[in-house]
Amino acid sequence: MRPALDSYTFLASGKVREIYQIDDDTLLMVASDRISAYDHVLSPAIPDKGRILTAMSFFWFDALGVADHLVGGPTDDRIPADCVGRSMVVRKLPMVPVECVARGYLTGSGLVDYRASGAVCGVALPAGLDESDRLPEPIFTPATKAEQGDHDENISFETVAAHVGDRLAGALRDATLDIYRRASELAAERGIILADTKFEFGQDADGSLVLADEVLTPDSSRYWEAATYMPGRVQPSFDKQIVRNWLTSPESGWDRASDETPPALPPEVVSRARDRYIEAYEWISQKSFDDWPQG
Ligand code: ATP
Ligand code: MG
Repeated sequence: MRPALDSYTFLASGKVREIYQIDDDTLLMVASDRISAYDHVLSPAIPDKGRILTAMSFFWFDALGVADHLVGGPTDDRIPADCVGRSMVVRKLPMVPVECVARGYLTGSGLVDYRASGAVCGVALPAGLDESDRLPEPIFTPATKAEQGDHDENISFETVAAHVGDRLAGALRDATLDIYRRASELAAERGIILADTKFEFGQDADGSLVLADEVLTPDSSRYWEAATYMPGRVQPSFDKQIVRNWLTSPESGWDRASDETPPALPPEVVSRARDRYIEAYEWISQKSFDDWPQG
């Protein structure tokens, strides 16, 4: 018999996930089907999104082969029946309070910073770069972990070092860039550009870094299709473009600049978004989502 979810202590809930405590050393991270866009959590949810993103995290943890926080597989006995397939059982670790971002391409807040200062997080870049341009080499662009509802704030390597020490800051940068490089190589072989991504690390008893949180999901990363990549414009998001396009179309009647809650997504948009997430998982992992466990 699998335990009931309410036999665990609820710890926290983010935009799309809930965290429970299994015991002093172990957490249950449960991904929901919620989807956010333009800083709003939308309704309805996208069926199976939690399972699809969990499948992607498991795929990447396995493919990367670095020390990670997993202590069980997707069907671990400690996972409640209705959470199977969208949960990770993980070691509860002291987390390094830095969002470890790697960027291989210039977009989003990186582009904003570059246009204002010619640098991103203090990393000087060549002049004349445009939206979505590939960077000469991947860069480490850390950010503070914002309180819920706030935006993460880009910070310099020196600021990270001032908070956590030079040694740990250097280790974070090296690990982040190393993992990003390996992941983007694998993605590139499969026709996908991993434009940027965010990692979070915990620490072992001896201080060594352990890759934690979710990894390389479309919620923590920008995936672009290599075949349609065109620098000089904002790239369509591999996963969310269907939803964004509808929200910003006249059909939705929603004004992005307003404070209004976005309208409910039509069933057709929901089902196309779901198909797209499955496509992303299958494309990257070269596995069938039909084989992924379900509660
Ligand atoms: P957002 O919805 O913006 O991501 P959030 O980060 O607060 O908000 P979640 O991502 O759902 O919400 O929360 C996951 C939390 O668990 C984060 O605070 C993350 O740092 C933490 N975390 C991830 N892995 C571990 C771990 N192995 N041990 C302890 N804490 C972890
Ligand atoms: Mg988070």
